[in-house]
Amino acid sequence: MAQIILERDECTMCGHCVELDESLFTFDDDDRATLVGSERDDNVDELEVEDTAIYEEAEENCTGECIEVYD
Ligand code: SF4
Repeated sequence: MAQIILERDECTMCGHCVELDESLFTFDDDDRATLVGSERDDNVDELEVEDTAIYEEAEENCTGECIEVYD
């Protein structure tokens, strides 16, 4: 399993991750992105996944540099 992190305080709300896959990324009530199905701690979303491909693509294109993939 790999771990995905989204540091929401750094999110610029650019929408690139949501455009990539709306089933994995969405905007929360504060208009910042969130990882669908994640747990939140101190405004950091954490999610365990098997397949990291889309998350790696999102990490590369994230303008806030706030998505991290730990394989
Ligand atoms: S790509 Fe990064 S900065 Fe843009 S909305 Fe998604 S998490 Fe936020």
